[in-house]
Amino acid sequence: MKNRTGQDRRITQGWRPATQAVRGGTARSDFGETSEAIFLTSGYCYDTAEEAAARFRGEREGMTYSRLQNPTVAMLEERLALLEGAESCRASASGMAAMTAALMATLSAGDHLVAGRALFGSCRVLVDSILPRFGIETTTVDGRDTDAFRRALRPNTKAFFLETPANPTLDLVDIRGVADIAHDAGALVIVDNAFASPIVQRPLQHGADIVAYSATKLMDGQGRVLAGAVLGPDKWMNEQYLAFTRHTGPVLSAFNAWVVLKSLETLDLRVRRACENAAKVAAFLDGRVPKLLYPGLPSHPQHALAGAQMDAGGTIMALFVDGGRPQAHALLDALALIDISNNVGDSRTLATHPASTTHASVPEAVRAEMGITEGMIRISVGLEDADDLIDDLAQALQAAGL
Ligand SMILES: *Cc1c(COP(=O)(O)O)cnc(C)c1O
Repeated sequence: MKNRTGQDRRITQGWRPATQAVRGGTARSDFGETSEAIFLTSGYCYDTAEEAAARFRGEREGMTYSRLQNPTVAMLEERLALLEGAESCRASASGMAAMTAALMATLSAGDHLVAGRALFGSCRVLVDSILPRFGIETTTVDGRDTDAFRRALRPNTKAFFLETPANPTLDLVDIRGVADIAHDAGALVIVDNAFASPIVQRPLQHGADIVAYSATKLMDGQGRVLAGAVLGPDKWMNEQYLAFTRHTGPVLSAFNAWVVLKSLETLDLRVRRACENAAKVAAFLDGRVPKLLYPGLPSHPQHALAGAQMDAGGTIMALFVDGGRPQAHALLDALALIDISNNVGDSRTLATHPASTTHASVPEAVRAEMGITEGMIRISVGLEDADDLIDDLAQALQAAGL
């Protein structure tokens, strides 16, 4: 029946990515609706008591409760799994729910985690403060130095956690190099791929075991909902991830799942255009500001690695001014088109001062070690005309004395 072809891997895996993005995961109801339906239901009914009992025993297929399964969420999960090339996907209420669940599902008291030190602010708090409260040992290393992961290994190291490109410093981690070290030691590699999306980088192809997302960013991409996702092998998903999340419940609502599901139809178009715009903006800023970090530019210290594991330079860059917070704030305040916002991956171009916003809760010494200075501004490039963005930046640079 054509209604369910989107759910049949034997069919969908033969589709090319653009087709998977539009039709992957779709399961039509008997009404034959064109667009996916939003199943706003917490529970499900059974024809007989024995049918209910059989589903609870796991002997019969079918949904039982939306903390465990929901048809709209399942469509999103299947579409994401196809785009990422993963066996299995679970959506979550936010990116932080995804990161927390992926780590808590993998680690127990007495285990050790090695993480790249350049992480999204809340991920850093998770690694530095929250996991240790549960008896999990953590070490952070300079992720640009692949061998630092090897040096940090302990007999009880169970996982590596990294972000590449990292927020907001645009540091890259060599996924293949780090995965080889982890696998020799019997550890899992978990990659936060929020800054790249599967359009720019597919970590599983480079040896990662688990990929986790804030779908709030490029996947929704229009600044509407919070969402997250975790992708990996069936075995890990069933035995570890679901064993944790079925009973702790960090699940995505059907409505928010539907918003992201529709956004995935245009993910490829949006991310490619935003990357093109970012490359134009970076080319304009290069040489006009004291320092600029954009993986797509030859001036990025890890440009060669970007070429090896990313299909484009991404949508985010960081510029640095010499005049500290006063000059950085002056530049932001002078922007007329680009918004001051701590979000990223939006169709609108957004700029922020990480030291006073997203990373303000990270201690100053740790910020310094990560390379987050008072003169740093992060820009997330969107879908406006690149020339309008360049005009706006040109006048703001001048107003800020650059
Ligand atoms: C935003 C973000 C997160 C957290 O996601 P939420 O959806 O805000 O919870 C985690 N990692 C990275 C890299 C992010 O950009």
